[in-house]
Amino acid sequence: MSAAASRITASVDLDAPGRQLGYYRIPHSDDAMPYGHRGPIAVLAAGEGPTLLLTGGVHGDEYAGPVALMRLVHGLDLAALRGRVIVLPAVNAPAVRAAARCSPLDGGNMNRAFPGDPDGGPTAMIAHWIESRILPLCDAAIDFHSGGKASDYEPIVMLNREPPAVFERAMTLVRAFGVELVWLMGAMNDNRSVNAAAQRTGVPMFACELGGRGESNPAMNDIAWRGALGVMRAMGMLDDEPPLAAQHIRLVEVTHPRCNVVAPHGGLFDPLVELGCEVRAGQLAGWIRDPFEIERPPTAVHFEIDGHLAIRCSRGLVQGGEKLFGLVTDVLAD
Ligand SMILES: [Zn+2]
Repeated sequence: MSAAASRITASVDLDAPGRQLGYYRIPHSDDAMPYGHRGPIAVLAAGEGPTLLLTGGVHGDEYAGPVALMRLVHGLDLAALRGRVIVLPAVNAPAVRAAARCSPLDGGNMNRAFPGDPDGGPTAMIAHWIESRILPLCDAAIDFHSGGKASDYEPIVMLNREPPAVFERAMTLVRAFGVELVWLMGAMNDNRSVNAAAQRTGVPMFACELGGRGESNPAMNDIAWRGALGVMRAMGMLDDEPPLAAQHIRLVEVTHPRCNVVAPHGGLFDPLVELGCEVRAGQLAGWIRDPFEIERPPTAVHFEIDGHLAIRCSRGLVQGGEKLFGLVTDVLAD
């Protein structure tokens, strides 16, 4: 993969100090934008220090990240900054503009687009630019997600366990972020994700899932904003106040296919359990009720393993096979 081959160009100078607010140009010509689309980028830099990449809007209907990152873009006091923050608050800008998970330009899911392709569609072009040109500049990265319109997440951080040295560095940042649940991803991590791109480039990185339902939630926005500041303090990039005490964390994983409870058929989703609960195998989780077949009795859905409920479908009407609940289980000590 050639770094020089990217078709994306940015209006900001990644090496210059100060608060630069600009755009990267996506050379995708269509009827709406014949001379190309654009996405936002900010570079906040002052003095000597590390480089942190903050990304939101990888999926366009997830708001805690974009809201918090826009607070930082305009609110961060450069007099207290030592280092450089590269902010991409709407990575898949066409998807964010459409308030959609995937790009309306090419259907691309940005978290399944890495390492990308400089000659591909707009989603692949952006992914290639980030992996080949942006991530190599960075000492750490955080990718902010939420559940989108379809689901709701208890706040949770996700990171790769490998390689061990990078994992240990990332865990020091996770402890400064302030979220208790930490999902250690193993073989189930998709190698087309931002996490995978950071892993390939050797950048300590974690993603987070903060709420969802397609809403902008004040508590989730605050977790994202305070978390980013906490990580910057832990990296020695801010001297505005002392770092907070490290967050107690609970290491969890998703290793069993039965962590996910899926709808047996389409209909109305009638959930009985809320996020954050500990559930047991065999416990009644909810019902699927089919209003279009009114004589049909409701179908019970049950949890199949013991676990902690971290993900819940937030749709009222679901299809057969759709994920209704996601459980995480504690990582047992070796
Ligand atoms: Zn997402």
